[in-house]
Amino acid sequence: MSGSPIWHPFTQHGLGEPIPQVERAEGAILVTADGRRVIDAISSWWVTTHGHAHPRIAAAIARQAERLDQIIFAGWTHEPAEEVAAGLRAIMPGNLTRVFFSDSGSTSVEVALKMALGYWLHRGEPRHRILVLEHGYHGDTIGAMSVGARGAFNRAYEPLLFDVETIPFPHDAAARATLDALERACRQGAAAFIVEPLVLGAGGMLTYRPAVLREMHAICARHGVLFIADEVMTGWGRTGTLLACEQADIAPDILCLSKGLTGGAIPLAVTMASEPIFAAHYAPDRARMFFHSSSYTANPIACAAAAANLAIWREEPVRERIADLCRRQGEALAALADHPRATALRQVGTIAALDVGAAEGYLSDLAPRLLRFFAENDVLLRPLGNTVYVMPPYCIGDDELQRVYRVIARALDEV
Ligand SMILES: *Cc1c(COP(=O)(O)O)cnc(C)c1O
Repeated sequence: MSGSPIWHPFTQHGLGEPIPQVERAEGAILVTADGRRVIDAISSWWVTTHGHAHPRIAAAIARQAERLDQIIFAGWTHEPAEEVAAGLRAIMPGNLTRVFFSDSGSTSVEVALKMALGYWLHRGEPRHRILVLEHGYHGDTIGAMSVGARGAFNRAYEPLLFDVETIPFPHDAAARATLDALERACRQGAAAFIVEPLVLGAGGMLTYRPAVLREMHAICARHGVLFIADEVMTGWGRTGTLLACEQADIAPDILCLSKGLTGGAIPLAVTMASEPIFAAHYAPDRARMFFHSSSYTANPIACAAAAANLAIWREEPVRERIADLCRRQGEALAALADHPRATALRQVGTIAALDVGAAEGYLSDLAPRLLRFFAENDVLLRPLGNTVYVMPPYCIGDDELQRVYRVIARALDEV
């Protein structure tokens, strides 16, 4: 047992693996207490977009902390929240007229599901069936786990998870089977379909084509099944566009955003909803209000960070930086294409992934061996099973990105 009382997430303390201490971070670099400079090649678990300690976001947080740190959000409002909501309305799909705040990706999903169920109840035709995509991940709370893939991560809780109908993942050759299954499930009546657009992150950086996303949306629209886009990971430019949904030219009925919403500096989430969903809850009757809140809903400091993120998107060449990173990722990945152990090379926007050898599953011992190798070489990469992916902050320098890929190439040879 180590001296620290901390119980870390997704960490088996029984393995006694070292837990490095980080002292500060800047751009794409983490500086550890023992003076190592580690490249953050996974954006600190997919959250950091513009880079660590972006001066505008850091300043916004400091300024807001002195002015108004926290205020109840039931029946009250404040300027940073209004600014974020207006900013989101300006750049997100036009049908998403309502912004509901929460604190994490998982809660944004819980809120989305509760909104969908409330919508059907208040329309007087209650529906409870939720459709999900195979290999999906939507968070670690009970509701979010219920709509995600079942496996080693949630075996202990499985009897408590509610039933959903799982639509097979659209592997390239099997997209028709996916669409047919979705069509059948929709025909039987469902409240909503929840999906990660274009890239299933925790499921192993599994990718599918925009045309399939577009068709899935069309099927749901045809049957009046609400379409929930969980863009918690894919949002904020990760897939090359602000939202992955843009590439399919679709607008969801409900949209979940978190991770990059504050540039990755501080927790905040929103669930955006279309007007009919808000309208279904709108009445002089208090029993129809939306029953969801948490203590820190729309915390002003977090909202100030999100407002700064929106200003960065408006005023800095973020889209150019993303386009440039997409190109560099493509080139670096292509250079690994001939390696005999690198398989299933894939890229969606700023996200690049490959499999090492044949599939072994999340708990295979290849992942921890790779993890250790990357750590020893001062690169933060965290393989999913035998899938190695690179998802850096958009500010990562050429030299830094090249070093990441040199270490991956050596890992392919040595681990
Ligand atoms: C990370 C993630 C979540 C959960 O977000 P948390 O902030 O970790 O609760 C939900 N959905 C997707 C697609 C994610 O990648």
